[in-house]
Amino acid sequence: MLRYRHVVRLLQQRSYSAGAASNGGGLPGGDKSGEDLHPIRRTLRLLGNDMRKVKEFFVPKEQEPEDKGILTQSKFQFAGEKGRDPTLPDDFQTHCDVLIIGGGGVGSSIAYWLKEKARDGLNVVVVEKDDTYTHSATRVSVGGLCQQFSLPENIEMSLFAADFLRGAKVHFGEDVPLHFTPHGHLMLAGDEHAESLMRSSQIQNELGARNELLTADRLAARFPWLNTEGIVLGCHGLEKEGWLNPLALLSNFRRTASGYGAHFVSGQVVDFEFLSQTDISVVAGSNEGSYTGLDKAIIQLPDGTRRTCKFALCVIAAGASSGQVARLAKIGVGPGMLQVPLPIDARKRFMYAINSQAQSAPGMTMPMTIDPSGIFIRRDGLGGNYICGLDSIEESQSASVDPQFFDQHIRSKLAKRVPALGEAQLVDSWAGSYDQNVYDENGIVGPHPYYHNLYIATGFSKHGIQQSLAVGRAVSELIMDGQFRTIDLSRLSFDRLIVDQPMYELNNVLS
Ligand SMILES: Cc1cc2nc3c(=O)[nH]c(=O)nc-3n(C[C@H](O)[C@H](O)[C@H](O)COP(=O)(O)OP(=O)(O)OC[C@H]3O[C@@H](n4cnc5c(N)ncnc54)[C@H](O)[C@@H]3O)c2cc1C
Repeated sequence: MLRYRHVVRLLQQRSYSAGAASNGGGLPGGDKSGEDLHPIRRTLRLLGNDMRKVKEFFVPKEQEPEDKGILTQSKFQFAGEKGRDPTLPDDFQTHCDVLIIGGGGVGSSIAYWLKEKARDGLNVVVVEKDDTYTHSATRVSVGGLCQQFSLPENIEMSLFAADFLRGAKVHFGEDVPLHFTPHGHLMLAGDEHAESLMRSSQIQNELGARNELLTADRLAARFPWLNTEGIVLGCHGLEKEGWLNPLALLSNFRRTASGYGAHFVSGQVVDFEFLSQTDISVVAGSNEGSYTGLDKAIIQLPDGTRRTCKFALCVIAAGASSGQVARLAKIGVGPGMLQVPLPIDARKRFMYAINSQAQSAPGMTMPMTIDPSGIFIRRDGLGGNYICGLDSIEESQSASVDPQFFDQHIRSKLAKRVPALGEAQLVDSWAGSYDQNVYDENGIVGPHPYYHNLYIATGFSKHGIQQSLAVGRAVSELIMDGQFRTIDLSRLSFDRLIVDQPMYELNNVLS
């Protein structure tokens, strides 16, 4: 198997401490015009239903005005690059050290970690075909972070994310707050999955997570809004879990990486140019003999023109389109090792924001609740807002959200588990596709076994946001140090597809 790493050694020899590029002025995190600056009024408006309940307790007859401004996930704004005038085109780079295809959460994180370490020692280019991120998974994600996985790699990646988020302001500054809401997740299991929930909880706690197992009786006592019918056990996260604004995380990766000098190019990689390299020979398998490597990416710019960018290393981080990009590199359509495809498909999800003013509706302490039926629900800020969805493949083929889906497939399951939300009002909905690894539903991270200069970071299925931090750092370690330095993700490499060793995650839920 070909392992050729002179580029890596070359990069390692460079000084990583070269001067930092200017961070520039930075753009404001959002439009604050029209915001009520009176602290008491603002607090009352934000607290909405929760405050009303408290007030009703003390002053029973008084009514608060209706909450009109519901900010749901679908309305988050992307905050642009740090230190860069968005009206000016970036200089197109015809050569670079590292070309990253896809500037979503994962690709931008890789750029961030590379530039954070190497600064001017490495020319990093990120090609993103849609700067508005309309169709990228990162935009529509609900940003959940939890450690309730069965694979140590997944647990460790999420633990690292929690640690990083605690000191995020040190890394990113304060321009675009991540809005991390610390909140435990509650994973419920019936008879069938109770034992594996118990085993996973043990591994999670051994690795540094903190969660508790609750029997049905204890669940009912702790969460009076929960109907425990059919539930045997629940695993409740006590710390290091919650959710964040994924678009703010992406904004921070991009702004900080570009502040350090990464180039973000608007364009789509539509093909590769190959180069026959006589100094490299393949020594095993049906690719034996001469080696033809990846040399340049052909990038179609928004005005339709095509330009090439020659790279030393390339990373495919194109989310749900990664399989297609890999095919451009003959992965899945070539001979020998190249016969094995990158098994990534777009998997669609509908998300719904609902509102309930029911007296018995779950309050502020409600954990992100994941039911064995596949539904998940959590609070969305204050004022009786919740976000929910169903963790299964939707039938609908339409690209936009299907509002009927909520009433047809979610409402009854929700009403069964959280009866007080049975009559909740649907206030918003959105659809999105994520990068599903159809082989074993886990991320694929690391070098491609045939191409000496190609890395892959995709297929994170339902947990790509929380893993983006650790994956970005891991890929930067591979590129700059030639090995994983912190979390060892070797078992998640492409090689497992070739030797057919799936890495199944038992608790694979959309969190
Ligand atoms: C509804 C929903 C809820 C989710 N909830 C969670 C959650 O709670 N927690 C969690 O951790 N994860 C969650 N996920 C999963 C998570 O959003 C994804 O795994 C993650 O965003 C993947 O990031 P990415 O950068 O790989 O992909 P993306 O964000 O999709 O980015 C890939 C980018 O590549 C670009 N691109 C594609 N092809 C090309 C090309 N040829 N040239 C140039 N650019 C290209 C695309 O435009 C895109 O912007 C959720 C996903 C969905 C859909």
